[in-house]
Amino acid sequence: MTKPTPWPRLNLAAGPVQVMDQTLRDAAKPVLYHYDPAFIELFARTSDLLKQVFRTDYDVVIMQGEAILGLEAAAAGLLSPGDKVLNLVSGVFGKWFEDFIHKYGGETIELAVPYNDAIDPDDVRKALHASPGVKYLSVVHSETPSGTHNPVKEIGAVAREFGVLTMVDTVSGLGGELLSPEAWGIDIAIAGPQKCLGGTPGLSLMSISSAAWEALEARKPEPLRASFLSILDWKSAWLEHKRFPYTPSISEMYSLESVLQQTLDIGMERFVDRHQAISRACREGVKALGLELWPAREEIAAACVTAVRVPDDIDDAKLRATMRHRYGVTISPGYGELQGKLFRLGHMGPAQAHPTVLAAQLAVLERSLADLGYPVQLGAGVGAAMAALEGWNDEGEKVSG
Ligand SMILES: *Cc1c(COP(=O)(O)O)cnc(C)c1O
Repeated sequence: MTKPTPWPRLNLAAGPVQVMDQTLRDAAKPVLYHYDPAFIELFARTSDLLKQVFRTDYDVVIMQGEAILGLEAAAAGLLSPGDKVLNLVSGVFGKWFEDFIHKYGGETIELAVPYNDAIDPDDVRKALHASPGVKYLSVVHSETPSGTHNPVKEIGAVAREFGVLTMVDTVSGLGGELLSPEAWGIDIAIAGPQKCLGGTPGLSLMSISSAAWEALEARKPEPLRASFLSILDWKSAWLEHKRFPYTPSISEMYSLESVLQQTLDIGMERFVDRHQAISRACREGVKALGLELWPAREEIAAACVTAVRVPDDIDDAKLRATMRHRYGVTISPGYGELQGKLFRLGHMGPAQAHPTVLAAQLAVLERSLADLGYPVQLGAGVGAAMAALEGWNDEGEKVSG
C-alpha cells in the first residue's frame, strides 16, 4: 500500500476553499430532526440571513445540493420547448450552461467572447435587437475558471429593456461584489456557500423574482413539480407552509447559518471590500514577479481568484505539485480547455482573503518558482502585495477563529 498523501497546510484552491474554525465547530452540532422546532427556526433564520447577504426582498430558496443543482433547476423549471435563450459565454461555466438549456428544450443564441475577456452590455443589446422573441438570458457573474467577471448590473438593465428574464450564475460572485437583485434585474440568482462566503459545499442559494415565479408556473406543458429539481416544490412546501419537500442537509444548514452570520458580522460592504482589496494586492504581487495576469484587462479581473498565465518555460503541473508537496499549499489549475494555460490563486472567504494567507501564498509561489529555476527575486511578490494592502485593519471585527 502506498503512503497516504499528507494533508495540505493551506487550501488556497478555487473552491471548495479553506473554511474558518468557527464554521467547522458550528457544523459539528448535533443532528436535529428536521421538524424539530429548533431546526425549523434555524432554517427560517438562515433564509433571512441569506436575504441580507443577497441584499434582496425577493424570496430565497435554499436547494439541498451543490450549486450545480440550482443551475440545472433554473433551466429545468423555466424552459418550455422552443424557448429562446441568449446565453452569454465568457468562459467554461457559461459554455457549459448551454447543455442544460438544450437538455430542457431551449434553443440558444450564443454571444461569446474569448475566455480571457468579459461580455460588453452593448453587444447584449445588439444581440437582443437582432433576435426578437428571446425569452431568457443566462450569464455567469464571476467566471471562476478564467478569473474574470461580467458586468451583470449593466447586462441585467439591458435584459429589462427587452422584457427578458435573467438566470445569473453568481456561484463565485456573491460576496465578491455587492449585489442588488431587484436593481440589477436578476430574476434567478444562483450562488454557493463554498466560494466567497467561505463555507462548505453542498447547497444552492437562490433568489427568485416574482416574474421568475410566474414563469416557473407558466412552463409548458406543465410546471415542474414533484422533482428534486423543482424550485416550485420549495415554494409550496417551505415558503407557503414551513414544511420541507424532503429532508434537508441538516449539517450543511448549520454551516450555512454560520458563514452567513460571520459575513454579516463583518458587514456586507466591508466583506466585499476585503475581497476586492486582497484580489488587487494579489495582482500586484503576481505582476511584481514578472508574471502575466490571465484576464485581458485588470478591470475585468474577478475578486474571487487571480488567474495567472503559465510562463513559457514553466510546467504548470510541476509548479502546482511543488507548492503542494514541498510546501503544503493547494492552488487550482486551469479548468476544461484552460488547463495548462493558467493557474489560479484563491482568495475567497474570510479564511483565504486575508493578508496573512495572501503573504504565505505568494511566498510559497515565489519559492516554488525559484525551485523550478524560474528567475524571481524572493520577496518581490509578497512586498508588492503588502504595499498594496496599506490601510488594512482587522480592528473592530468579531474574531471567530
Ligand atoms: C464553483 C462554481 C460552480 C459550481 O460548480 P462545481 O464545479 O460543482 O464546483 C458553478 N459556477 C461557477 C461560476 C462556479 O465558480
